[in-house]
Amino acid sequence: MSQRLLVVEDSKPIATVIKQIAQSLNYEVVLATTLAQVEEILSGDTDFFAATVDYALPDALDGEAIACVLSYGIQSVVMTGKMDDATRQKILAQPVIDYIPKENSQAFLYLKRVLHGQQTNSNNVILVVDDSSAARNHIVELLKRRNFSVHTANNGVQALEKLKQHKNVKMVITDLEMPEMDGITLTNEIRKKYSREQLAVIGISGAASGIHSARFIKNGADDFLRKPFCPEEFYCRITQNIESLNNIAQIQQAANTDFLTELSNRRAFFRNANQRIAEYTKRKVPYCLAALDIDYFKKVNDNYGYDAGDQVLKVLALYMRKHFGAGLIARMGGEEFAVLLHGLDSDQLYNKLDDFRRDIAVSALPAGDTQISITISIGVVFDSKDELSKQMNEADNALYLAKDHGRNQIVISGAEE
Ligand code: GH3
Ligand code: MG
Ligand code: MG
Ligand code: MG
Repeated sequence: MSQRLLVVEDSKPIATVIKQIAQSLNYEVVLATTLAQVEEILSGDTDFFAATVDYALPDALDGEAIACVLSYGIQSVVMTGKMDDATRQKILAQPVIDYIPKENSQAFLYLKRVLHGQQTNSNNVILVVDDSSAARNHIVELLKRRNFSVHTANNGVQALEKLKQHKNVKMVITDLEMPEMDGITLTNEIRKKYSREQLAVIGISGAASGIHSARFIKNGADDFLRKPFCPEEFYCRITQNIESLNNIAQIQQAANTDFLTELSNRRAFFRNANQRIAEYTKRKVPYCLAALDIDYFKKVNDNYGYDAGDQVLKVLALYMRKHFGAGLIARMGGEEFAVLLHGLDSDQLYNKLDDFRRDIAVSALPAGDTQISITISIGVVFDSKDELSKQMNEADNALYLAKDHGRNQIVISGAEE
């Protein structure tokens, strides 16, 4: 679903650049070149996700269009050719997302970041901790303008409680002096449980001395803001820290994911399977570990080409997600996959695997213009007490037997002896 962006700009070249940026972010752009046009558009239709508003228009030389767009409840980024202090103050006195001086090409890169942030920031959850409700509200207000998801707490104790409740918090912004638990102690407590790669902490204090920033940083904070701060400083710190967290998450995600199928890769499988098996053993939940391999996959490549083979692997991954949704699924390499399933009992788990095997055997998998039929062989081990690598070997050995016995079948490890 594309979001609509109102672009208010009288300069054609600039409007074109903004339009390109917005379209690259999937916004649908509506252009207005005068205040009169803005009023005309908004009198009929106010369904805009956001707006970029040029400060000076032919019929509104002094920022009048900003108040007009804001009065319709549309979040706005102000684009301005002027960068004097009076203009800045005037713009910042209004609840705008941001203002961007149109000084050079950097301005448009910045605009792109801001517009992208407006679309994605609701996934970035921030906890604001301050005992002063005025200070808290001010920060919350600034964050909401940027579409961040926000929780609040009055002190460190409450903050730790909120972190337990909301596992998806990415950043804590905390005041220093608070009753019950201060910001430094809070930061310290947070770092016992959350690494800097999971959660960013930004300390805030009104005290003039630099000692507080030093203490925050030494206790595990990632950054520090001194009150009073200007919105530019605030947004810069928040955005940088959030972007850096998201970059780390992206890198971790890529390192754990198979590029072709987007399933977990071997490394991620081993790590996660170990955790899950420990959990199943503790809770006495029946589980099984299965090794799956496509039969005669080399022939698929030979007959249809490598691209078609890739396509088959991708579609197979989709089938696996459909059948084994709650399980752990991975591409271990080539045309070999692994699944860790848990459930009610061994029969149920076996049937799940066999349903999958049969579904694949009777399905024609789409690959480009053609459809390709494949079968798979499965080796499975149930509720083994061995360590994971040994279990994997047992499942693999069972898989070889399944191949030996004619393929397109399941062999249970240990059932042969
Ligand atoms: P078997 O029934 O004994 O498993 O026969 P097979 O042909 O499936 O097994 P073999 O191990 O001899 O061949 C595996 C083939 O899988 C060979 C290799 O080119 C192909 N393959 C491995 N990774 C990929 C991939 O990412 N894409 C494609 N298209 N093919 C791949
Ligand atoms: Mg203008
Ligand atoms: Mg194979
Ligand atoms: Mg193989």
